[in-house]
Amino acid sequence: MTNSPIPLAGVIGSPVAHSKSPILHGYWLKKHGLAGHFVPLNVAANDLGEVLKAMPRMGFVGANVTIPHKERVLEHVDHITDRATLIGAVNTLVFRADGSILGDNTDGYGFIENLRQGAPDWDAGSGPAVVLGAGGAARAVVASLLDAGVPEILLSNRTRVRAEQLRDDFGARVKVIDWVQAGNILEKAKTVVNTTSLGMQGKPELRVPLDGLSAGTVVTDLVYAPLQTQLLKIASDKGCVTVDGLGMLLHQAVPGFERWFGRRPEVDDATRQAVLA
Ligand code: NAP
Repeated sequence: MTNSPIPLAGVIGSPVAHSKSPILHGYWLKKHGLAGHFVPLNVAANDLGEVLKAMPRMGFVGANVTIPHKERVLEHVDHITDRATLIGAVNTLVFRADGSILGDNTDGYGFIENLRQGAPDWDAGSGPAVVLGAGGAARAVVASLLDAGVPEILLSNRTRVRAEQLRDDFGARVKVIDWVQAGNILEKAKTVVNTTSLGMQGKPELRVPLDGLSAGTVVTDLVYAPLQTQLLKIASDKGCVTVDGLGMLLHQAVPGFERWFGRRPEVDDATRQAVLA
């Protein structure tokens, strides 16, 4: 018998009921026979600081952070990883034994790991990437593509000023293209990423003309509901290599699970099926 407490982790958001993280972490805990629980925590913005102070005292070893707290949580962490600083947002917290809180961002890591798993021949250095959208997720995508060695990112967003802000933050390898021109740059791309919410269930379709896509281009969508978006369907019909967005969600969870529960889980087909069930 041991008196060590059962480690707890959770996902902090609002709303949070839709989050797939409890199913994912619950699946991995069971698969590896580990003691632990992972719970959804609906936390209002004004309560965030107090909740984070109380969580370690309640047995929490860490948490994921989702919308709308990913930026605001920066005010409440004691240490922040370089990649979270670069992205300007935190999605993974570790409550350390000394009482301090570490903030990390694993979204870019999850994005690249998903791309590498879904398109094993993907070569970051082979040519420009087109990134559609310049919201929170785009920051992680741009940071990780640059880090992976993509020579140039052609970034297009409906609200141009948001794309310009990313270029200012990430430097001259990012070039801003007008949203109305987005279809015209696809033929230059070796990699195409949709980081907008367009194409998601309940949202309008992505209307960017896709005629310029050519066979062999790697096309990925952050939207994972539906799994095969209209973008991925058209890209697949054109002979592109397509990678859906579910894997990003799964891979971004790996570093947190490993830190909290002490075991590095795998993202395999059984994991996908468990989350989709
Ligand atoms: P966000 O910060 O709200 O950004 C939304 C983006 O979509 C912006 O670029 C926005 O352009 C664009 N957009 C929204 N409606 C549009 C419209 N009608 N026409 C043109 N552009 C439009 O959201 P986010 O956090 O970046 O998330 C974006 C998507 O990625 C969501 O679907 C989210 O679920 C998904 N995501 C997936 C994962 C994963 O693990 N697979 C991780 C993170 C996010 P404006 O700037 O012009 O508004």
